Amino acid sequence: MKVICIGRNYSEHAKELNNPVPDEPVFFLKPDTAVLKDNAPFYHPDFSNDIHHEVELVLRVSKAGKHIAENFAHTYIDAITVGIDFTARDVQQKCKEKGLPWEKAKAFDGSAPVGAFVPFNADTDYRFSLEVNAEQRQTGRSSDMLFSFRSIIAYVSQFVTLKTGDLIFTGTPAGVAKVKIGDKLEARLEERVLLSFEVL
Ligand code: MG
Repeated sequence: MKVICIGRNYSEHAKELNNPVPDEPVFFLKPDTAVLKDNAPFYHPDFSNDIHHEVELVLRVSKAGKHIAENFAHTYIDAITVGIDFTARDVQQKCKEKGLPWEKAKAFDGSAPVGAFVPFNADTDYRFSLEVNAEQRQTGRSSDMLFSFRSIIAYVSQFVTLKTGDLIFTGTPAGVAKVKIGDKLEARLEERVLLSFEVL
């Protein structure tokens, strides 16, 4: 399986990083070795001094598809949860300055913790949030996304075939910040805590 991540999908987050608001979806991939499940701890890598949390809604792909029409895109998703797109912001900044790919900053081991999945409903305006050490850091809702679930799936599947079990991280709202060893992260979908883990 693969992890497809959408970047800059909330205008307030694009602004906080001084990035332009995109006119088409921005995406990148993480390998399966990035995924952390079952509330496993995140081991802070030593190549970065500025690992940021990015809480995101995560979709699970339920069947293979390519060139998926936007009208039918929601039928390719069976479950949703919250996840963290951990980003080595210092490493990413150097990659950006040099015009290089972001993988070193985004695709490292453990960089994609995902919560427990719940059934997906295409018509829900999903609210989600992240607390760090019981303090609220990020909140968002799916209706604030620049590109909807359907348009993301239609867009990405023009280039990359979606396969059963693939995950799609759909972008983070504003409020990204550094994590440190000892932090406890708790992410909610609506009122339910679906992801809870520690930084070690
Ligand atoms: Mg992200």
